[in-house]
Amino acid sequence: MTPIDGCPRMRVVRALQGGLISLGAPLGWFLLGLLDVRGFTHSPLLYAYMFLGTSTAFSLFGYLIGAKEDESLRLSLMDHITGVFNARYFQMRLSQEFATSIRSDLPLSIIMFDLDRFKLVNDSHGHPAGDLVLKRVAQAIHAAVRVGDVTARVGGEEFAVLLPNTDGPSAALIAERVRETVKGMTIVLSSRKTVSVTISAGVITRTDHPECHFSELFEYADQALFKAKSLGRDRVVLA
Ligand code: GH3
Ligand code: MG
Ligand code: MG
Repeated sequence: MTPIDGCPRMRVVRALQGGLISLGAPLGWFLLGLLDVRGFTHSPLLYAYMFLGTSTAFSLFGYLIGAKEDESLRLSLMDHITGVFNARYFQMRLSQEFATSIRSDLPLSIIMFDLDRFKLVNDSHGHPAGDLVLKRVAQAIHAAVRVGDVTARVGGEEFAVLLPNTDGPSAALIAERVRETVKGMTIVLSSRKTVSVTISAGVITRTDHPECHFSELFEYADQALFKAKSLGRDRVVLA
């Protein structure tokens, strides 16, 4: 899912606006005709030419401008290193999904992931290798969740997944699946170097904490993650 899925694409909106503006040329000609200028012509062919000519030009121009706007929006909501969503988009979707979850009385879960001892990866293999590890882990998380779930990078080596309509045990199972996948991954850094990492996770479900505001829910997921770390890392803790 891209950030603009479900919203009208700006390329379509701008193309339609361009088409609408192009009514200006034939309308202007018609109004000029009301001035009763000598030799003025009201030929339907002329009106059709003015409308079609300007609507083609303006719609095309609008489409190109709108495509740039769509791309800017997409870039502003994605994390450039990993290709998943960024924290801004995650917070935006969290508040929306939280409201939907209350309205429809459906569960909503959050999984917070944090790579274990990631500083060691940077220290041993360098920052670009660390970036590659972040990318591979983000891809693994994204591949393990459902299409409607939202995967985002919410900190340096921290990822969060928003799971609408998912209860705690199901979310914990998904987190466990990600943990196992990440643990089993061998990330190739060069022809001679590979690296393996582990990940810890904290899971929380709104319906288990009906008193919580959405920001508290996020905090509690973080606390569960902290507990997973203090229990020895490479594990999942359900809040
Ligand atoms: P813990 O198991 O307690 O989470 O240990 P940790 O080493 O993963 O945690 P710590 O907070 O000590 O270090 C996080 C590291 O993540 C330090 C920082 O260099 C690295 N990091 C943060 N952002 C990026 C990034 O964009 N790229 C790379 N390569 N590293 C990053
Ligand atoms: Mg870490
Ligand atoms: Mg961290």
